[in-house]
Amino acid sequence: MGFCISCGQQHQDDIRFCRFCGNQQPGEQLLARLRQEAEQIHYMRLQAQALAQQQQQQQQQQYSQNQYNQQPRW
Ligand SMILES: [Zn+2]
Repeated sequence: MGFCISCGQQHQDDIRFCRFCGNQQPGEQLLARLRQEAEQIHYMRLQAQALAQQQQQQQQQQYSQNQYNQQPRW
């Protein structure tokens, strides 16, 4: 069972048009595309997180290197 994307009435999964309001319902292709898009967004978010972590680590490394350089050498 699915729900109309326009009026929200319950209807069978395999219909192409809502029998209440007549709006076209998302077919298998559209659902597959939406799923793909959701996966892409998820992947992009993971990449962004990994990049942010890398940058943080690099900054920490630079910070500790600077501290080392600033120490007086006897
Ligand atoms: Zn409808």
